Amino acid sequence: MDFELSEELRMLKDSVRRFVDRELIPLEGKGKNPDEIRKTCQEKAKELGLWLFDVPEEYGGLGLGMMARVIVWEEISRTTAIPSRGGNIFGPDVSPLLYLLEGEAKEKYFLPVLRGEKRACFAQTEPDAGSDPGGMRTTAVRQGDHYVINGSKRFITNADKSDFAQVFALTDPAKRSKGGISAFLVDMNTPGLRLGRPQELMIDDTPWEIFFDDVKVPVANRVGEEGEGFKFAQSWINAGRIRHGARGIGVMERCLELATSYAKQRHTFGKPLSERQSVQWSLVDSYTELHQLKLMVYHAAWKFDRGEDCRDEAYMAKFFGDEKSFKAADRCLQIHGGMGLSKELPIEYFFREQRSMMITEGANEVLKMALARSILSK
Ligand SMILES: Cc1cc2nc3c(=O)[nH]c(=O)nc-3n(C[C@H](O)[C@H](O)[C@H](O)COP(=O)(O)OP(=O)(O)OC[C@H]3O[C@@H](n4cnc5c(N)ncnc54)[C@H](O)[C@@H]3O)c2cc1C
Repeated sequence: MDFELSEELRMLKDSVRRFVDRELIPLEGKGKNPDEIRKTCQEKAKELGLWLFDVPEEYGGLGLGMMARVIVWEEISRTTAIPSRGGNIFGPDVSPLLYLLEGEAKEKYFLPVLRGEKRACFAQTEPDAGSDPGGMRTTAVRQGDHYVINGSKRFITNADKSDFAQVFALTDPAKRSKGGISAFLVDMNTPGLRLGRPQELMIDDTPWEIFFDDVKVPVANRVGEEGEGFKFAQSWINAGRIRHGARGIGVMERCLELATSYAKQRHTFGKPLSERQSVQWSLVDSYTELHQLKLMVYHAAWKFDRGEDCRDEAYMAKFFGDEKSFKAADRCLQIHGGMGLSKELPIEYFFREQRSMMITEGANEVLKMALARSILSK
């Protein structure tokens, strides 16, 4: 493995960094509607030539490898101008489940999402099924050429803005997560589907509850075979975990930039903060952990691009990235004193968002449980 990025990746990194510094950071804290900001950013991102960078070439995208995607993700995560979730400014959010669609379903759901004409939400979590989807109670019962879905979901990001939902439901309650869960595409305006409460959180994502009351869905809207839903939900998960690590790199870099510059400029008791050992050690800890995280994430991406099994590396990139970037935001906040808490600076946003990352897309303890199993099985 090279310890240097290739010339091509360095150029990619430089151009995204310049874009973030010039176009996005000045938009931070402007208090505008996130959708509006996202739209403005998307227009600018098109000029950069990175539109659909993570979409395979056969669908008109750039089909960049994981290492290049990591570079884009880490750079874009240095700013709070775009939301940390659903904040892809280089194209619409295309859930990997949609790539499996064929025929009519592909025309009706996948291609319109790719063209930015439709939006989809991902509906797996329920009151009794968060970390453990096996606790799911939502059922889909087959009746001839359709299924009837009953149950509820919660914490569903963008449910209010979506045209359809990718819904996970039990088709075989005896098997549960071992082949008893299927995935369905459900139009949000289907009779019997209704949104519940928006869930106000300490972060800028306001997910929703969804209720299903005898919702009829054609068999053609099932993704894959019956019982394969959960397998699909798991299949792209390594990329999502590596992305958490890449985001951690971007957040840590920005927090270090902010902390270093403030420590040099702020004087207390006749000296700049940067001359205090406790402040220096705090910077050193973040710097060292950033270096560790980079090596881990780049290594995971390298294995991913070689088609090697990178599950262990992806677990580590996720929880290590979430935890260390939260810690770096915390240290940066402390160095800034009261100003660290101010909404005029991006630090408190990083602090809140990175805290939430330890829970979403797999709570860190659950990933550690899976990694422990892997270690013990070797
Ligand atoms: C902002 C936000 C957006 C979300 N968006 C979506 C979405 O779009 N679609 C969707 O389907 N879901 C979404 N979720 C749900 C998210 O995936 C779940 O919150 C997450 O999986 C954790 O589930 P839970 O909240 O039920 O926690 P639980 O599963 O109840 O776990 C609670 C805590 O217990 C600990 N824990 C759990 N299991 C173990 C274990 N085996 N060993 C040790 N400790 C353990 C962990 O610390 C965990 O944080 C979102 C959540 C949030 C907060």
